[in-house]
Amino acid sequence: MHTRVPYESHEAKGPDVDVCPKCSSEHIMRGVEVRDRGEHNPQPLQVHVTEPEPPKHGLIWFQGGSSGTVRAWICAACGYTELYTDNLAALYESYRKWPPGARAQ
Ligand SMILES: [Zn+2]
Repeated sequence: MHTRVPYESHEAKGPDVDVCPKCSSEHIMRGVEVRDRGEHNPQPLQVHVTEPEPPKHGLIWFQGGSSGTVRAWICAACGYTELYTDNLAALYESYRKWPPGARAQ
């Protein structure tokens, strides 16, 4: 495993510690799916990084971007919750296409 480089990770790893930082409980629920609100078809919550429009392109082009799924690490004793995102390499790749100072949407 090459877990040393979070940049290359495609899974949300979350914290390495198994102890709640708030209450020191060892009962941690790892990688719990966070669902967006949806009456009939709830989807896992995602983040999205939209890429800037390329300086040159044809009449038809596709908006680039990357998505990552958000997962939660939850303490079963106090409810303390941390959120972590996967697909980091692709997200960061999209993010870095923005010039410095510009903000990804
Ligand atoms: Zn706790």
